[in-house]
Amino acid sequence: MWSKRLANLWDGENVASMFKTISLLGIGLIGSSIARDVRSRRLADRIVISTRSEKTLKRAEELGLGDVYTTDLAEAVRDADLVIVSVPVGVSGAVAEAIKDSLKPGAILTDVGSTKSSVIAQMLPHVPEGVHFIPGHPLAGTEHSGPDAGFEGLFEGRWCLFTPLPETDADALEKLKAFWAALGSKTDEMDAAHHDKVLAIVSHVPHIIAYNIVGTAADLETVTESEVIKYSASGFRDFTRLAASDPTMWRDVCLHNKDAILEMLARFSEDLAYLQKAIRWGDGEKLFDLFTHTRAVRRSIIEAGQDTAEPDFGRAHTASKAGE
Ligand code: NAP
Repeated sequence: MWSKRLANLWDGENVASMFKTISLLGIGLIGSSIARDVRSRRLADRIVISTRSEKTLKRAEELGLGDVYTTDLAEAVRDADLVIVSVPVGVSGAVAEAIKDSLKPGAILTDVGSTKSSVIAQMLPHVPEGVHFIPGHPLAGTEHSGPDAGFEGLFEGRWCLFTPLPETDADALEKLKAFWAALGSKTDEMDAAHHDKVLAIVSHVPHIIAYNIVGTAADLETVTESEVIKYSASGFRDFTRLAASDPTMWRDVCLHNKDAILEMLARFSEDLAYLQKAIRWGDGEKLFDLFTHTRAVRRSIIEAGQDTAEPDFGRAHTASKAGE
């Protein structure tokens, strides 16, 4: 198995890199964080960076994120042993189409998109024979975007989920898992439809609720916008952090995980109606029971090491690393 072999071969100090050439397509928050870790942990001999715009490419070069820079996606993947696509999920199909004739046989092609069924449907038809396509999703991020927003250690202690296909090569999967483990991630596998449901409830719906509540507050006529900002308490402030997330990324997540999000939103609306009724009828017992139960969920998250118990929602500890 690769992970065992790699553990022997690669000690992070002076042994051969995991990959000769890694190509990063998209160099925003996620792509640039990967680049920083690959460089500092010496996981590749050569990092090739490609992005859509000259402006972002130039910034990546100024930041010294790679060794080779190009806006030509096909050129970027020509010698790559590992290709990581880190673009908004809605354009993953177009990226796969652009690189399909240049991918090297035996290369691993993966992505970091927040939705998986749609990414597979878009990319798979373009994956040539002999290339190992392994969809992935690191559960790490922030509300910031672009190459300046990335930082070393973003993936440390966070999950990276894979949604392998029935034909996925076991050795290639182990090698990719070992790569993410070297970035500090814990790895797991599930099928794409299940991933999309899980992420709908733990990430997508919370972001939608945040976008909605901040929008509602901004629209209130009886409370001025300046009062919302001036008196914003921790609850609202925390929603604004989520609601400041990248509009392109989240538009694409909503459009490309539509079914799971609508299913979870329907459940959410039913539960909200129950809560609304309890408040209307002064049913303190129901409210107390629910709030006790949810507090236990919070405790479990802390016990699982996914957040700290610091007050003020752990702001000082998670502000730069909360994301997905
Ligand atoms: P980001 O910081 O906004 O960077 C996006 C990158 O994609 C940029 O290099 C951008 O290029 C490129 N891009 C945008 N539109 C493109 C197009 N039409 N064609 C080709 N390239 C395009 O985004 P990110 O936060 O890194 O997110 C990247 C992926 O990671 C998304 O699929 C997202 O779902 C997933 N993800 C995000 C998070 C998070 O918290 N942010 C967490 C986990 C996974 P230019 O700047 O040159 O236009």
